[in-house]
Amino acid sequence: MNKPLILVVEDDKAIRNLITTTLETQGYLYHTAATGEASILEAVSSRPDVIILDLGLPDMDGVDIIRKVRSWSNTPIVVVSARSEDKDKIDALDAGADDYLTKPFSVDELLARLRVSLRRVRYDSGKLRRDSPVFVNGGLKIDYAAGSVRLDGKEIHLTPIEYKLLCLLAKNVGKVLTHNFILREIWGSYSSDLSALRVFMATLRKKIEKDPSRPRYIQTHIGVGYRMLRVGDDSAGN
Ligand code: CA
Repeated sequence: MNKPLILVVEDDKAIRNLITTTLETQGYLYHTAATGEASILEAVSSRPDVIILDLGLPDMDGVDIIRKVRSWSNTPIVVVSARSEDKDKIDALDAGADDYLTKPFSVDELLARLRVSLRRVRYDSGKLRRDSPVFVNGGLKIDYAAGSVRLDGKEIHLTPIEYKLLCLLAKNVGKVLTHNFILREIWGSYSSDLSALRVFMATLRKKIEKDPSRPRYIQTHIGVGYRMLRVGDDSAGN
């Protein structure tokens, strides 16, 4: 990949400048947009590698922008939101955003999120990978055809729900999945038992994490959901 192109969508000039200055010093290319309408035009015309999207724009709901972009593009979207927009953040993830930053955020945090998103782009563009019958991440190996999971070469035994959970996270590696999304995928739309999800996640972690209190593979996003990280990625807080 050449220098990655980042589309920065932010109506607040000071924040936009902070982001673009950071990108510039790190050797990224960028385009900017200050409105929803301009952001969609830019996304279509410049085909960015990652979109950084402020949810609070003057002309359009950020979640609508994500839906529009997602109707034709799989470009990673990192949402930027104020803390008071927590519900919007979750809606944004459910609409197809990959990750989020909460204002105020640090420059290091921003760069870490970008690296995770860019890794996903590279991973997706490796053609065979997406439909590969085997998923490998660090010492974790899932053989989808055999329905088996190995950790550091040793087979581990998962219950059917733990296995489904692990596969769902693996298929969306790098992406933050909301509680609602996971509940819907695993239990169907009628269930919303968050405590059950927490229990299964805890037992799954006991089996795949060497130190479940400091997980390497599955990251918790408090109040939001979970994400599987590529081992070697920044854990990027939260
Ligand atoms: Ca704003």
